[in-house]
Amino acid sequence: GGVRSGLYTDSDQVAILTPDNVDAVLFNSSSATLTEFYASWCGHCIAFSPVWKRLALDIKEWRLAVQLAAIDCAAESNREVCIRFNIKGYPSLRFIPAFSSSDSIGEDIRAFSRDVTDLRHLIIDKLESHKDPGPPACPPLEKTSAREIDSYVENSRRQNQNLALVFEEEKSYVGREVILDLLQYVNITVRRVLNSEEELVSRLGVTDFPSVYLYNTHTNYSRLKVLKEARVFYSYALQSLPGVVREGQTPPAARDLIRNKTEEQWRPFNKTRVYMSDLESALHYSLRVEVASHSVINGTDLTALRHYISVLKKYFPGRPPVKNALKAVNDWLQDQKGTSINYSDFRATLKTTSPDSYLPKAVRWVGCQGSKPQFRGFPCAMWTLFHTLTVQAVETGSNDPQEVLQAMRRYVGSFFGCRPCADHFQNMADESMDQVLSPSTAVLWLWSRHNRVNARLAGELSEDPHFPKVQWPPPDLCVSCHSLKPSGEHTWLLPEVLAFLKTYYSAQHLSHDYLS
Ligand code: FAD
Repeated sequence: GGVRSGLYTDSDQVAILTPDNVDAVLFNSSSATLTEFYASWCGHCIAFSPVWKRLALDIKEWRLAVQLAAIDCAAESNREVCIRFNIKGYPSLRFIPAFSSSDSIGEDIRAFSRDVTDLRHLIIDKLESHKDPGPPACPPLEKTSAREIDSYVENSRRQNQNLALVFEEEKSYVGREVILDLLQYVNITVRRVLNSEEELVSRLGVTDFPSVYLYNTHTNYSRLKVLKEARVFYSYALQSLPGVVREGQTPPAARDLIRNKTEEQWRPFNKTRVYMSDLESALHYSLRVEVASHSVINGTDLTALRHYISVLKKYFPGRPPVKNALKAVNDWLQDQKGTSINYSDFRATLKTTSPDSYLPKAVRWVGCQGSKPQFRGFPCAMWTLFHTLTVQAVETGSNDPQEVLQAMRRYVGSFFGCRPCADHFQNMADESMDQVLSPSTAVLWLWSRHNRVNARLAGELSEDPHFPKVQWPPPDLCVSCHSLKPSGEHTWLLPEVLAFLKTYYSAQHLSHDYLS
């Protein structure tokens, strides 16, 4: 597995402190840190750790200004650090401002809430009252005024520069949350305007609080269209505006999608569909390339291959000849009674074809095309394949909730070429996969873990700028999946998400375009 320490793993967005990194993470840093001191044996800490992980994911976009850390004081090697911070009970939270000196022990947060929203608001309060110098990456969080906006519009050369105004009540945190959510994005400035700022409120005729306006000039402004007036919807809509990109990324150019004659032609596709061509390509690549890296397959690898093929045989919603070929490969594997097989023999089985039994012979990405050769392709198709298989298990009335997930876990563990990916996936699987008790829950488990991966990878170099990683399905793909709690907090409506996934990944809904 990956790096693991106490209650957190390196798949969480929490910096895991050790005596070796504690100085570098906490002191003289350009971002503030909220650190949890815990003991891995303490029940309250165990109960609190999912909250800490959720919070870390929730404010991942803020990390240049503030990040979360954790240290296990039960680990003997960490004792000295915990003593130096004068930690007396667990869990303890300390806010360590940016540019703190190494003799600082931070500010003890007393009687903190176990609620992600409350903790997020606490962090905003800490950032707002941060002593100078604050984290340089932290944008202004205070309310703005007509005067300030007018001088900003007059003085700045605002090429491409969007200005979004969040109108809200004083006690609302939405504006500041959205400001921080956009912290890593360029060509956009977000400010909050209070409902008491009469000049701006009447100039724009604002009647709803909260609501967001895109402001160009005195007379040129428009209300941001969102499905619900809430943080996640605002942030998603603003991050998707034309010209708004993550710092360091160039805006996606339309020409990336137009290929010259020597390259593969771009295949236009529909984002609301899953393409059989991607599923078949995943099959081809996994069986002919990934598995091929093992010239002899034995032990857990052979078990993994057997499970993978068996699940494909049962649930791959393929064209009849492909299904026949999968059945033949599965039969062949069943007949192998030894403790190992040679890949060359396995490959010979894959190659045995007839008009009514064959496997795809090349890859052809469609929904998984990347704007550059290094983007998307196989890993995208692997996710797509396993989502499809979990949904097929439900569609065909399977009563084994673990079958597909375990096959995926084993396949990824034995064969998936990206080893750090395999480690991360293993961590998530170890954490909760065996709590999945029905095939429908398996669909949702994979969906939610994939979203965790999306959150972790958003903004990484591996992200295709044409296909930014978002919490999926975004509102424009499934409106009813999204809802708000009475507190205004975003929440997924799980029955709606499940219904959406069951349709999106259903056999009937698969597109057969581009198949040869
Ligand atoms: P992908 O994330 O590959 O998604 C493919 C398609 O699935 C999307 O286009 C969308 O239509 C749909 N989709 C998106 N989210 C969901 C969801 N939550 N539920 C259902 N459907 C969804 N890369 C790393 O850099 N580090 C890692 O640790 C890592 N771990 C991985 C682990 C596994 C098991 C796999 C299969 C891949 C992993 N990858 C990792 C690769 C990474 O997740 C992406 O697959 C890759 O970057 C391509 O991204 P993409 O934009 O094509 O979308």
